[in-house]
Amino acid sequence: MNDPADQLLLPDSEKLRRRMVERQLVRRGIADERVLEAMLSVPREAFVPPYLARHAYDDCALPIEAEQTISQPYIVALMAEAAELKAGDRVLEIGTGSGYAAAVLGRIAGQVHTIERHALLAQTAQARLAALGYGNIEVRCGDGMQGWPEATPFDAILSAASGPGIPVAWKRQLAPGGRLVMPRGGMTRVQNLIKLKRTGEEDFVEENLGKVMFVPLVEGTT
Ligand code: SAH
Repeated sequence: MNDPADQLLLPDSEKLRRRMVERQLVRRGIADERVLEAMLSVPREAFVPPYLARHAYDDCALPIEAEQTISQPYIVALMAEAAELKAGDRVLEIGTGSGYAAAVLGRIAGQVHTIERHALLAQTAQARLAALGYGNIEVRCGDGMQGWPEATPFDAILSAASGPGIPVAWKRQLAPGGRLVMPRGGMTRVQNLIKLKRTGEEDFVEENLGKVMFVPLVEGTT
């Protein structure tokens, strides 16, 4: 009963998670049971700086280290739902940040590969995911613009940072039938959340899921 991971959790964690799922996700139309189950199970307070633990389930993004953010719960759920994840899927995430979305994706999919350009964030996320026992997530510090060529193909690719266009490398790394979800918009504060499905070797079907606000993709590591 003396699991070190327990010390990271709020005493009313489960109740807060249930309330978040009901009020922020179900009421807004998230219906994929796998996504709701995953969001119910991952303790979000373990992924924010300790002074923000009490706000972990607020209906907004929160600051994390390196001047980055952990995405709003609804956006994590919306992207996971759009990615149509199933058990056994191979997933690539660009922008590990806190590691929270990777943990959620990992509860549904078979294997998650996640890349973060900030070394401090990548290390923190990796240690956190290990402490919480999420064993199917591989974290790499690097520039995600080239994807993760050695681990292709991916059934789903999710980008937690926005760019003016979808990198060609990501499209190539999608499996047939694979889904890519990414915020697209130049240097604007508001972007469109795009879903791209690979329907053939050179064929993709695009859908716009609406307006979102993400930090930009930045090339190189730090
Ligand atoms: N999924 C995260 C949200 C992270 S915000 C979570 O659940 O907490 C987006 C992250 O993308 C930031 O941490 C930022 O450092 C990272 N990022 C931006 N450009 C990148 C790039 N080219 N390669 C990898 N990571 C990048």
